[in-house]
Amino acid sequence: MSAIDEKFDVIDDVFVDGIDIHSRGRTRNNYGPVLFVLSLALLEWDQLPPLWVTRKNPIGWREGQKDSLRYYRTVEEFAAAYKFGDYFQLLTLRRATDPIPLHFIDHIELDDPKRGVRKPDFSYFVGARAALGEASRNFPDLPIESHRCPASCNCEASYADVTEEEMKRLFAPRGVSTPHVEGLRTTTSTPSQAV
Ligand SMILES: [Zn+2]
Repeated sequence: MSAIDEKFDVIDDVFVDGIDIHSRGRTRNNYGPVLFVLSLALLEWDQLPPLWVTRKNPIGWREGQKDSLRYYRTVEEFAAAYKFGDYFQLLTLRRATDPIPLHFIDHIELDDPKRGVRKPDFSYFVGARAALGEASRNFPDLPIESHRCPASCNCEASYADVTEEEMKRLFAPRGVSTPHVEGLRTTTSTPSQAV
């Protein structure tokens, strides 16, 4: 939460990218290595918070601007102007104070930085995947996959430049240790659309 979020009245909003930023930019997403791909079934959820779409990324908003300049006002206006792949038109769930249930996640993609630490012998990818499996243990059918990178993706090179401290923050916030990998799930589900 920040003063800017408060100023622009988005403090309780959940921003959702319509595209996979990692694939689009062919490099790691600075927000983190875990991608939750939401099912379009979420749109039919009867408790779905109001879904608004920004005209521009909020970093370009100005103080005192009307909502009509920040968000599309009608479905027709949205349909005419929305460009799939645009970084700046963000889908946002307004005042989403309750969590989005995990069953609306189609699958999870985790970056494989191809890095680890020697002592103890620890792979960031295996460790983070085990942690995700543990966190979603009540949803044993939820696929956890390595990120589907496009050809000539630069994420591995980008991760090579990340400090050890930052790698631990991104992949192993609870510390590095030999992960408990029993029951790990990996699948190759069919691609689905993100909302
Ligand atoms: Zn990549």
